[in-house]
Order: sequence, then C-alpha cells, then structure tokens
Amino acid sequence: MESKHRIGILGGTFDPIHLGHLLTAEAVRDALGLDEILFIPAAIPPHKRGREIAPSEHRLRMTVLATAANPYFRVSDIELHREGPSYTVDTIDALQEQRGNMAEFYFITGADAINELATWHDVHSLLQKCHFVAATRQGTALARESLHREFGAIAREHIHEVPTPEMEISSTEIRRRIRQGASIRYMVPDAVAEYIYKEGLYR
Ligand code: ATP
Ligand code: MG
Repeated sequence: MESKHRIGILGGTFDPIHLGHLLTAEAVRDALGLDEILFIPAAIPPHKRGREIAPSEHRLRMTVLATAANPYFRVSDIELHREGPSYTVDTIDALQEQRGNMAEFYFITGADAINELATWHDVHSLLQKCHFVAATRQGTALARESLHREFGAIAREHIHEVPTPEMEISSTEIRRRIRQGASIRYMVPDAVAEYIYKEGLYR
C-alpha cells in the first residue's frame, strides 16, 4: 500500500511572515515527519479589518520569498481566490480535491486555538477530515481531557501536540518597528526585509 502524503498547513495573515512562523513550521514538520508544509495566507474582507492590512499580493509574495529556500515548504493562494473569509473546513475540502485522497492534512495552530475547537465552524466534520497540531509554546497547555470529553476518541487520534521553541516575534511588533525606523534584521528573512523596504510597506 502506498503511504499517505502528509501535509502540514500553516494559515495566517502573514503581514508580514516572520521567523516565528518559519521556526514553528519546521519544528512541526521535523517532529511529525511531515512530507510538506503549506503556508496559506488568509484573505481579509474589508469589513473585518480593524487596521490596514497589506494587500494580499504583497503578503503572498513575502510568503513565497520566506519559504523559497526550504524544499519542504510550499505556498498556496487558495484562500486569496475566494471571496471573504474562509472556513478551515472549506479550505481542507478544496485542498483534498486538489491533492487527491492520498493527501492527509495536519492543521497547525496554537494550543490556545485548539482548546477552543468547540467554537469552530463545523468542527466535528473538520476533526474527521484532518489532523490538528497544537504547537505548544510556553504558556498554554493542551486541554487534553476536555477535548476528549467533547469529541471522543477522534480527539486522541487526530489532535497532536508538538512543543515548539518560543520565539518572541509577532507581525504587529515588526510593523511597529518599521514605523519607528528600528531594525527588523533576524526577525524576518533578509529577502522579506528587502521586499518590505523596496515596496515601502508598513511605514
Ligand atoms: P499579528 O501580530 O498581526 O497578529 P502574528 O505574528 O500573530 O501577526 P499571524 O499571521 O497572525 O502572525 O499568525 C499565523 C499563525 O502563526 C498563527 O497560528 C499564530 O499563532 C502563529 N504564530 C504567530 N507568531 C508566532 C511565533 N512567534 N511563534 C510561533 N507561532 C507564531
Ligand atoms: Mg496573530
């Protein structure tokens, strides 16, 4: 029997993508032996924006630049082609359709988000369709017992935990630093910093 192609998914605004994202993706790939990590920039509908978000073409290009050197990393623009925000379940369905039934998806997110899984859209179906990976940075532990109580055996099979190194970087902090003229070197890949300056983003 041919083995499944196991694909990690890291969704985000990536405004901009930074080394915290890349380190988490690589740590999860390595720990679970995934075949690929797919970075998926999210479309942000205008009415949901609490602040200016860089146009999706820029966020997509920066994500491509940041991931180019890692042969396991790919970028998908699947959510950018759809109108409005995407439910994870719709993204998984569309990817499954694209990649065929030998593809198996591992949705990577923080333990805090997974502890609130019960509030996710169509979560029971989602949990059947894909795996979840709780990237546990210091702070929030995975609430294994309550997840098991809520979702039963599938929670044990389809929810994984990977401790990832803590890297105190956020896109918010990077945007703030750019506005203030502070250095972002070693917070984002060099190619991303160059792109930001060349395009005059976040000033
Ligand atoms: P913002 O500051 O604008 O909220 P962000 O840095 O949190 O941006 P997102 O695009 O919102 O970046 O994050 C995408 C995913 O990456 C989320 O699941 C988020 O929890 C995770 N993530 C963000 N920053 C880090 C980090 N420093 N280390 C590990 N994972 C991170
Ligand atoms: Mg965030």
